[in-house]
Amino acid sequence: MKAIISLYKGDITKLNVDAIVNAANRSLLGGGGVDGAIHRAAGSELLEFNRKLGGCETGEAKISPGFKLPAKFIIHTVGPVWQGGNCNEDKLLENCYLNSLRLTVKNNIKTIAFPAISTGVYGFPLERATNIAVKTVIKFLENDDTIEKVIFACFDERTYQVYEATLESEKIPF
Ligand code: ADP
Repeated sequence: MKAIISLYKGDITKLNVDAIVNAANRSLLGGGGVDGAIHRAAGSELLEFNRKLGGCETGEAKISPGFKLPAKFIIHTVGPVWQGGNCNEDKLLENCYLNSLRLTVKNNIKTIAFPAISTGVYGFPLERATNIAVKTVIKFLENDDTIEKVIFACFDERTYQVYEATLESEKIPF
């Protein structure tokens, strides 16, 4: 493991990293929340580009340029909608992180920021989602020597506090 982990409170679109991850929907054509913010900040070229991607299944990931963003790339992944916990939600959320990280390595991306996928409109319980996010990322990084920095971008204070507590309880320096 080479990467350092960092927590950031605020708008992911402002981050000067190689790639930011978008919690998109299956159309990849924009929506609310972080998806809307990313489409607004990247500009209309993103929508034009994504039309050619042909959508994305839940748990999968696709990459686009960052267009007007400071980030060079956007990795679009589709989180599961929380349906009570018995519809494979945990595994699908894990897949979002894994497939995003696989694309990161494949595209030689060194610094990447993740939002709290599925914890907004998609209703995934925050503590449970954070546990999956942190454990999946750490396990992947333990077997990777290319990624240099992973940032968890927390938009609100509560999300920041849950990430902080989870990293502390896992004894992960950040
Ligand atoms: P989902 O549909 O996957 O639940 P949302 O965008 O509704 O996605 O919410 C996911 C998380 O992203 C939430 O914690 C929300 O507060 C956060 N979020 C919303 N806007 C931004 C932004 N500009 N930067 C970072 N995180 C954001």
